[in-house]
Amino acid sequence: MENKKELRNWLDAYKLDHPLVIAGPCSAETEEQVVKIAHQLKDTDVTALRAGIWKPRTRPGNFEGVGSLGLKWLQTAKKETGLLTATEVANPHHVELALKHDVDILWIGARSTVSPFIVQDIADACKGIKNPVLIKNPINPDLALWLGAVERFYTADVKNLGVIHRGFSTYEKTKYRNIPEWQIPIDLKAKFPDLPVILDPSHIAGRRDIIQDLCQTGLDLNFDGMIIESHYDPDNAWSDAKQQITPEVLIQIMNDLKVRQEKGGTEAYKHALADLRAKIDVADQTIIQLLAKRMGISDQIGKVKLENNVQILQNDRWNSIKNKMLADGDQMGLSNEFVEKVYAAIHQESINHQHNVSK
Ligand code: PEP
Ligand code: MN
Repeated sequence: MENKKELRNWLDAYKLDHPLVIAGPCSAETEEQVVKIAHQLKDTDVTALRAGIWKPRTRPGNFEGVGSLGLKWLQTAKKETGLLTATEVANPHHVELALKHDVDILWIGARSTVSPFIVQDIADACKGIKNPVLIKNPINPDLALWLGAVERFYTADVKNLGVIHRGFSTYEKTKYRNIPEWQIPIDLKAKFPDLPVILDPSHIAGRRDIIQDLCQTGLDLNFDGMIIESHYDPDNAWSDAKQQITPEVLIQIMNDLKVRQEKGGTEAYKHALADLRAKIDVADQTIIQLLAKRMGISDQIGKVKLENNVQILQNDRWNSIKNKMLADGDQMGLSNEFVEKVYAAIHQESINHQHNVSK
């Protein structure tokens, strides 16, 4: 797939003067729920109503979606509000039913993108359609697998394409449900600058309180839009209750978000600078997270030393770490003086952590 301007024709056709917003419940639950949320979201910056009709659940027994019945509710919501509609399709039958019910935007779920067989089946069923198809990243952080899915659709003559960044699964406990690994969508944008990238802060966060912050990061990284889960009664939603926000909160977030303001310099300069600054912000966030992780390990070391009645300061171990980091830093263009300073501070903080454990 070459980088072609045509990839974003569908988005340009919406003629928006703000980033694209797709919003709505994780799952369609009842006709009343779908239609009510659609009415709450019309006349805002929301362009399309999302609702899952078939829900891929990690474990059986959870709510698996209302099925094709819900497509009629989406049709009603569309007729009453003028919003476009969007839903996930996970097999050729879903594609056929969604198209029959005038669903405007289709998306491919993270659990489908991981399987080239499933992706190929869905792509074949979509052959030649003009509806935008948005492809979520696979569960695992694999850019090639993600791009491979996009290519399968492109080859099936689906040219109105986009991707959705919904974070990546991790075994480690973090503040996110799915860690963002921003470098991956940044790399993807570098390869295909014209492929629209939509942020899904809801599935990255898994919780309400960091949705706005994630949206702002997405905008700062020049994402083209957002898909956000919204329900009038989030706590009682049938799926993903913790991460849904009310339409009122969503509207407030859309008002508060800052689309990059530009002042001085040429357009190209302003974009280049803003992109670089956004990358710096992401790098800084990564540095702090890694430092915190390292100190967490120091706490564990402190505990093990305490249990075994061993001294905290182990000079030979410290010297070998420092020498290794000096050599590595040197190879990567970092001066000895700088690495010395950084590691002296890290070592000191690590000793403090170990001390605190042994108190
Ligand atoms: C969803 O959008 O509700 C969903 C199931 O997302 P994902 O495929 O990203 O898990
Ligand atoms: Mn969901």
